[in-house]
Amino acid sequence: MKWGLLALNFFTVNAIVGLSAAVLLRRLDDAVQHAQQAQLVLKQQAELDHLTGLPNRRVLMQQTREALDAAQVGADRSALMFIDLDNFKDINDNHGHLAGDRMLKQVAQRMAAQVTAPSLVTRTGGDEFVVLQRGLAPSPREATGQAQFLAERLRGAMMQPFDVTGGTHQAHISIGVTLLGQPGQTPDDVLREADTALYRAKAQGRNRVVFFEPSMQTELRERLQLETDLQAAVALGQLGVAVQSQVNAQGRVVGAEMLMRWVHPQQGAIPPGQFIPVAEETGLIVPMGEWMLEQACQLALQLEARGSDIPLSVNISARQFRHAGFEARLLSILEANGVEPRRLVLEVTESLLIADLEATVASMNRLASLGFEFSVDDFGTGYSSLAYLKRLPLHELKIDRSFVDGLPGDANDAALVTLILSMSTSLKLRVVAEGVETREQAAFLQAHQCHAMQGFLYSRPLSPTDWLNTLG
Ligand code: C2E
Ligand code: MG
Ligand code: MG
Repeated sequence: MKWGLLALNFFTVNAIVGLSAAVLLRRLDDAVQHAQQAQLVLKQQAELDHLTGLPNRRVLMQQTREALDAAQVGADRSALMFIDLDNFKDINDNHGHLAGDRMLKQVAQRMAAQVTAPSLVTRTGGDEFVVLQRGLAPSPREATGQAQFLAERLRGAMMQPFDVTGGTHQAHISIGVTLLGQPGQTPDDVLREADTALYRAKAQGRNRVVFFEPSMQTELRERLQLETDLQAAVALGQLGVAVQSQVNAQGRVVGAEMLMRWVHPQQGAIPPGQFIPVAEETGLIVPMGEWMLEQACQLALQLEARGSDIPLSVNISARQFRHAGFEARLLSILEANGVEPRRLVLEVTESLLIADLEATVASMNRLASLGFEFSVDDFGTGYSSLAYLKRLPLHELKIDRSFVDGLPGDANDAALVTLILSMSTSLKLRVVAEGVETREQAAFLQAHQCHAMQGFLYSRPLSPTDWLNTLG
């Protein structure tokens, strides 16, 4: 009865729409195919990163689990690499998200070209990529070598400039690597280890490959603690200031640098070399830098009250300078304190100048036209490109301590310092030598017309009160 009805229906429908059985069957077949395709698309959507077309985190996790199982029974060894684009944020901030997206697509293509199946490149979010390298040698030593080789190739693949909207861009990557197959290692362990190694790669100056070592775990914990403690220090007003004189050939104080200090409640004084990078990475440098500008204004007022207008140098981190609203905050802090811009020298680093020359030039020009002076800190340690020196409203270069150290004996240091000094004369830039510790260094610098010297030979960094007292 049912079949009869169905048959009747079939023929009725067939008759009504005027289609043959063959056509109907084909349609049915199409529908099934469409459903299968739709299912495939859905699966792909769940497993692919939409922007780059690379597999996503879900695939990575599943394959990492498989690779780990294989490694633990000794069948096959794998390595996992956490990869992060150095300074990707700058591209997004300075060229917009479209440019950022274009960059990520190109990075994805270049990485994919280096990795062959069954190894896998995935994008796990933002500018984070993860490579799972399969089929490595069973011996950890050999496997490490193979992983190092691929990681270096990936790094090398980024060396050519990228083509992003509004021009080309240079990018580097940092890579943290860990090997799979330690007893008891879980997929989460693997990811954490690679991430820890990546963190170390960035801390060591980026654009490098670092392998995970167990000792890094402790270090990571300590760093997270430092971050929390620094946050508290900023909130509780535990930061301090030291001031160090800059002295001319006649021994007169012609300037001074404001240096940040932090005395940790348990660990005692923590050097800025340790806490400033943490502050930069977490963004805490923004409020810390504003606080420092406030301190500089107050000291400038105290100087003014004594009839002195010695300019005060303040270190400005790239992250702080680039932060939206930096110019406005700087001006409002000065205005609120009634301090003129010409009383401050803003010390910036070469990396800031290079990273995004156009925007930096514009911002520096605006500030310089208001009376601020700019100094290039640690000159000689970065790119030291002469091209930008001419384009920027610079007032001063600070020769890095590492070059002053070898004076006058080290022929390379002597040649470099002499070169910087003669170049500065023709560019009409003032030069301050940092880290002057001996009379011999001072004599060499003076003989080559260095304008000012800063270092322990003249004065250690002092509390603002002690420093004011040295002025007599
Ligand atoms: P910098 O700006 O190059 O500061 C000069 C550093 O050299 C200071 O180290 C100073 O104490 C040290 N120094 C001066 N004379 C001598 C010397 O004769 N011999 C030796 N061995 N060292 C000397 P400090 O205070 O530890 O600061 C380290 C770095 O931390 C600074 O280097 C600067 O980059 C950063 N920093 C300090 N305060 C701030 C701040 O308020 N904001 C930012 N963004 N960075 C800061
Ligand atoms: Mg400085
Ligand atoms: Mg310096």
